[in-house]
Amino acid sequence: MHVDSLGPVVVVASEVVRDAVRFMRSAEPSAIAYTFTKANGSPVTVADFVVQAFVASRLARHFSGDPLVAEEDASVLRGDAVSQVREQVLRLVGQMVPRTDAEREQVLAWIDRGRGACARRFWTLDPIDGTKGLLRGGQYVIALALVVGGTVEIGVVGCPRLSITTAPASQADVSDHAVLAAVESDAAGGVAIAVRNRGAWWMPLDSGRLTRLLVSTESNPAKTRALHSRESRHSDVDELHHVLGALRSAASPVLMDGQTKQVLLAAGAAELLMRIPIDREYREAIWDQAAGALLVEEAGGRVTDLDGLPLDFTTGRHLLRNRGLIASNGLLHDAVVNVTRRRSLR
Ligand code: AMP
Ligand code: MG
Repeated sequence: MHVDSLGPVVVVASEVVRDAVRFMRSAEPSAIAYTFTKANGSPVTVADFVVQAFVASRLARHFSGDPLVAEEDASVLRGDAVSQVREQVLRLVGQMVPRTDAEREQVLAWIDRGRGACARRFWTLDPIDGTKGLLRGGQYVIALALVVGGTVEIGVVGCPRLSITTAPASQADVSDHAVLAAVESDAAGGVAIAVRNRGAWWMPLDSGRLTRLLVSTESNPAKTRALHSRESRHSDVDELHHVLGALRSAASPVLMDGQTKQVLLAAGAAELLMRIPIDREYREAIWDQAAGALLVEEAGGRVTDLDGLPLDFTTGRHLLRNRGLIASNGLLHDAVVNVTRRRSLR
């Protein structure tokens, strides 16, 4: 199957993310040359701004009427304190778009397109999800989703440092099914694509040929393999261990940054991903969840919050009606929700 068969909107979304992945693979050292800490304590680097400017410019060209809701904005870049960051952002954006377009005000305006409102139809973008992973040489992704009427219709997750390998036909129970997900230091990179009611696929960087992503068929709770944030501040790993204990699973959770975890779950490399906020008031940003949730669902899995409720993308930039996340291959989902419900009653 070829990406073209998924229609022009999916093609544009997949190509812009693929081009951003290619850029990051070639420009990584200069894209992380300057880094600073935002008011909320999370790091931001040149790459966050460059990728947001590039994706916003492409979306503006193809879908000028669609708002963009993205993690970054250009206010900090307008100050003199970060002039080195700004100059590097302008230089790198200039490598991705025609030079005449890469004027300072135009680039800052593209970044500021990310301040858009959550309209009936809008795009949401995390230009670099897992910035800490990028900085430490680990995993990070570029996550883009189209939301229409509160439903995620398209999810695209670009993975510069991930490889998903296709099994030889004789081993695959479904033709073209990716059965082995590998994280390698020399990974080829690729793009995970999900389209509502159509499916989820892996697209390599050098062709539009799609390989189907399907969740694991493991139904024995004791064999649950879990994925978890590397950042202990982002999710309570002790609570995850409690859930795994209740399932009688002895496997240690694999720690990984950003929505790489949802890609690996969709590829069948694990059965469970949980996000258990340490601060009970924390609400997830939509760009951290939208694309990844559709990938897991379209690969055959289930996604809810810790209370078993569906994610509600109608509440603006954050999931105000949801707390935390349970994403699974579906088979052990109810068992996990039962454990978390019992825990939160205490
Ligand atoms: P992960 O690597 O799964 O922890 O996801 C990284 C994302 O966590 C970042 O893109 C942030 O938007 C988000 N994040 C930042 N602060 C918090 C927090 N206190 N709790 C949960 N997630 C957070
Ligand atoms: Mg993020």
